Amino acid sequence: MKMNIMLERAQRLDQSDPLSDFRSLFHIPFKDGKSIIYFTGNSLGLAPKTAQTAIQQELNDWAKLGVEGHFHAKNPWYSYHEWFSPALAPLVGALPSEVVAMNQLSVNLHLLLASFYKPTKERYKIICEAKAFPSDLYALQTHVAWHGLNPKDTIIEINSLPNKQILYTDQITDAIKEAGDSLALVMMGGVNYYSGQVLNMSAITKAAHEVGALAGFDLAHAIGNIPLQLHAWQVDFAAWCSYKYLNSGPGSVAGIFIHEKHAKNKELNRLGGWWGHNKDTRFQMEPDFDPIATAEGWQLSNAPVLSMAAHRSSLEVFHAAGIENVFKKGKELARFTKEILTMIKNDFQTNYFDLITPCNDDECGCQVSLLFHQKGKEVFQALTDAGVVVDWREPNVIRLAPVPLYNKFIEVYRFGNIIHQILSA
Ligand SMILES: *Cc1c(COP(=O)(O)O)cnc(C)c1O
Repeated sequence: MKMNIMLERAQRLDQSDPLSDFRSLFHIPFKDGKSIIYFTGNSLGLAPKTAQTAIQQELNDWAKLGVEGHFHAKNPWYSYHEWFSPALAPLVGALPSEVVAMNQLSVNLHLLLASFYKPTKERYKIICEAKAFPSDLYALQTHVAWHGLNPKDTIIEINSLPNKQILYTDQITDAIKEAGDSLALVMMGGVNYYSGQVLNMSAITKAAHEVGALAGFDLAHAIGNIPLQLHAWQVDFAAWCSYKYLNSGPGSVAGIFIHEKHAKNKELNRLGGWWGHNKDTRFQMEPDFDPIATAEGWQLSNAPVLSMAAHRSSLEVFHAAGIENVFKKGKELARFTKEILTMIKNDFQTNYFDLITPCNDDECGCQVSLLFHQKGKEVFQALTDAGVVVDWREPNVIRLAPVPLYNKFIEVYRFGNIIHQILSA
């Protein structure tokens, strides 16, 4: 009976959804002749249909023009990357000059650490979250070791409290205060990839600055998922990938944010390359590096135009939808998902699972993580058999992300209905 009410609600929500037409702009994968329910946009976003034509355009110009394409392609490759700074800036709450699309996420983390982690004898520690995404942890460990320091004495991992799955802001700011003068840097995921929790980036940055440290964030699970205000929060630097919520294709070009107070500082250490050099004199091939005084100054290589073509077509979809609408629907989808799951949970005497993603709107995006105590694998198998793609994390967590551009409320209902059936069996 209660499930019927949720079905009607899902139908009503879909009918009044201003973004409902955007689903048709994406390729929805098929299984056994039926569209699957794709809830792993937090891992690899689906393909916008326009990506193919956008890449084809560049292939055609390459075939037709060869090297001349740098200046004479329809979208000249020489300045191709410049389109992205104003397009990405509103997604992270930055000035266009603070943002550039380049490289890949883990590579960029190292480049940013090269600029923003300058350990001294007194100030050398780094705070990150325990169970950070492995690549981030490897980047920190190897970067620290490359400076000749021992990662064990250098990296402070903040653990959640016993029996809690999330981090409290006070825990983080207390750890920052405790590290005090020994702290060089705070580097954390803005949205935790496991729990889906949104960290209070503004408070963390403020606390880091108060002890004389810097703050940077990995926004892989944040960009395109939640509104961000990096400039106003005074965040020093950030990096993200574009293939999760930004739907730009596997391994597609990533991006970085450098606060303008750092970007303008030409004295700041950076690992340079010709694409970060003053554009007026780039082709004079001068011996001395003269960095551009914006985030562009961190570019090393000329732009990967083919992957950028997919990235561009995807960002055009975001802007056509209106990013506020995207974030708003994302929250509504998450709210509906949690409501239906809470209802299912309360329908059984046995505590089969707990929601580990915070329910408060400011502390979550559209990802929901479920910690199973029983029947987790059976639920996951039943969802897979029914063509619902979610993500299983050992030992017992199911993560899903109904995303606003192509998921529907009715899909969340169907997902809930399958879980309800399995638990009733
Ligand atoms: C997805 C993800 C990565 C992946 O790194 P790549 O360099 O793009 O392979 C790294 N860190 C976090 C937090 C992620 O979520």
